[in-house]
Amino acid sequence: MLARLSSESRFVPVILQLALPSPLRRLFDYLPPQGCNPAQLKPGVRLLVPFGKREMVGVLVNLADNSSVPADKLRPAIALLESQPLLPDSVWRLALWCAQYYQHSLGDTLAWALPSLLRQGEPAQMADQWLWQAAPNARLDDPSLSRAPKQQQALRTLLQHPHGIQHASLARFDLLKATLDSLRAKQLVQLTRQAHQGRTRPSQWLHAPELPLNEEQASALQHLRAGLGRFQPYLLAGVTGSGKTEVYLQLIRQVLEQGQQVLVLIPEINLGPQTLQRFQQRFNARIAMLHSNLTDRERLDAWLKARAGELDIILGTRSALFTPLAKPGLIVVDEEHDASYKQQEGLRYHARDLAVLRARLENTPVLLGSATPSLESLHNAQQGRYALLRLTQRAGNAQPPKLLRLDIKSRPLDAGLSQPLVSSIRDTLAQGQQVLVFLNRRGFAPTLLCHHCGWQAECHRCDARLTLHQRHRQLRCHHCDSQRPIPDACPKCGEADLLPIGVGTERSEERLQRLFPDTPVLRIDRDSTRGKHSMQALFEQINSGKPCILLGTQMLAKGHHFPAVTLVAVLEADGGLFSADFRAAERMAQQIIQVAGRAGRAQRPGKVIIQSQLADHPLLVQLCESGYAAFAEQALAERRHAGLPPFTQMALLRAEANQAALAEQFLQQACDLAEGLNPQHAVELLGPVPAPMAKRGGRHRAQLLLLSEQRAPLHNLLAPWLQQLESLPQGRKVRWSLDVDPIDTY
Ligand code: ADP
Ligand code: ZN
Ligand code: ZN
Repeated sequence: MLARLSSESRFVPVILQLALPSPLRRLFDYLPPQGCNPAQLKPGVRLLVPFGKREMVGVLVNLADNSSVPADKLRPAIALLESQPLLPDSVWRLALWCAQYYQHSLGDTLAWALPSLLRQGEPAQMADQWLWQAAPNARLDDPSLSRAPKQQQALRTLLQHPHGIQHASLARFDLLKATLDSLRAKQLVQLTRQAHQGRTRPSQWLHAPELPLNEEQASALQHLRAGLGRFQPYLLAGVTGSGKTEVYLQLIRQVLEQGQQVLVLIPEINLGPQTLQRFQQRFNARIAMLHSNLTDRERLDAWLKARAGELDIILGTRSALFTPLAKPGLIVVDEEHDASYKQQEGLRYHARDLAVLRARLENTPVLLGSATPSLESLHNAQQGRYALLRLTQRAGNAQPPKLLRLDIKSRPLDAGLSQPLVSSIRDTLAQGQQVLVFLNRRGFAPTLLCHHCGWQAECHRCDARLTLHQRHRQLRCHHCDSQRPIPDACPKCGEADLLPIGVGTERSEERLQRLFPDTPVLRIDRDSTRGKHSMQALFEQINSGKPCILLGTQMLAKGHHFPAVTLVAVLEADGGLFSADFRAAERMAQQIIQVAGRAGRAQRPGKVIIQSQLADHPLLVQLCESGYAAFAEQALAERRHAGLPPFTQMALLRAEANQAALAEQFLQQACDLAEGLNPQHAVELLGPVPAPMAKRGGRHRAQLLLLSEQRAPLHNLLAPWLQQLESLPQGRKVRWSLDVDPIDTY
């Protein structure tokens, strides 16, 4: 296309088609900026452009020679922001594919994929490293600080960090530049500049020796090593504690020795410090962890270093998937079954699925690991798309935990605890060991009920009950976060006869603490770990190995290694057995096995007690007697029989509005339009129906489900359909979104 700019045809105008950060699924046409060298106009460069009265940063996608915009309306871009495309070809194509597959605006897709400073037009250059340090003779009791508490506090922070604090990191330490400038004027603080220097590659990679592998690990590693250097997805299905991480680490060493980089995705940032520590103990390598606590500058610098090949290992949560790599050699997705890999807002992508695509574009292997693989991945393995590697034994001398079902139908429960369970906890603590109690419900009680008239505390904005939070003396909605004080009397009948019904972690915590007054009870849920460092502090206490009771929600069930835990108690296993959500059983099984997997990971064997009202339910029996693989086999057969994913393809159109009728009208129109694009009825349209939680946060919600046996008919329908939906006038009165491969359909 650039040939058109050559001397023969210089009169043909060049139109720049840009992706702009807009929800609209289209590109925007501009003329090149004045005086711009056309050779620099390559897809993937950023330009600053006028948009209405504002300026925006766009990314060049195509060059065209004509535009549907009338010539007098076309505006020139203001400036070209770089001479080379921002992203390597692979990540660029990944973004294009992602936008198309998830039917999302390309501009917004790129906005999710890029560090925020780049979206704001910052140059793609490493910052000079400015370092703030306390002056050698600076003292906190300096007379000039007696009336400047903020400066004093800032100086205290700097004195606590004798090696200094990078300018890019000030925000993380709650330091303001203005405060430091004042201190600098008083000569209490120094600022020095260090030019950016890429740290050179280490030559000796191992810090610590590798463990001798058992037979299964060795065989898996051998397979994986043989597959380096080309695209191949692997599913490493290894029971909890089977040494999957050790296999990753030994494979990664080989990749590092080949001079390549490794991208490791973890589901949740809480697992970050533990994983990072394991990697740092093993490798003398340049490792970065991309997490939400980074400042924008730190994030950009890490991104640039990865792109320049100045990092060897990049660890991060789902969005790290888009990190450009100079020399990619391997992608690892740990705990691949975890639902947090699916983004539930904006760009609704699945990082695990995109990781497989990214690996294909990079021509590298991708290793998905889990003790409880998703049914999707198991299906892909059965279809031969992924190579399946199994680890069936625990590594070292650790024994698999025994799963015991405890029927609680006719037993009295005290704050969710049955008598036999309390005895087991007592025995375990008496032996100097730790106990983990799992209850996936925070707060004190899920309901507040009037014993006199039957009134229940409900959220005014959602179709949901309010959870009682005793400690804060509040009723809270877990769906919209609204809060109310606990009433003294029933608002309906006026009697002071209000009772908490059901059990949340706060209530079990209170009871356990009363039953075991001499043992620390550590509650781990979203309420207890809000502080920045509190999670870390809790883990340190757990790792001390002293007897304690850990009590928590699914935050506890993920990947952690708690060597002193020998008893795991699942207070309630029934939620997944009679839910309307077709994934509920899979999720329940994964949770039980994952949380059970925290037991007996070291020398002492572990025991798992699962309390259930339905202790003889076939799914539960099978899970406990035959394990996850057998359960998954059965669950897959049921999905096939019912025509559900992974055997069918799904998309979900959601709409919400101030009035229920608006959302349903929009969806009905959408449904009619879809029928028009679906003459062969290859796509089944289900709905529109109210969402299972029909009101949430004050908005009425409805949905339309699209189901198809094959992917192609569904995707062929989606693209033109979305164009039509965008121009529907009714669409402006509702908030709507499309979710391709939804994991929350209920
Ligand atoms: P997973 O990732 O499958 O949960 P890990 O890699 O965390 O398992 O291993 C569980 C425990 O077993 C860790 O303490 C690890 O150091 C240990 N381990 C792993 N492989 C071996 C091995 N081959 N020999 C001895 N111990 C091992
Ligand atoms: Zn009442
Ligand atoms: Zn609510």
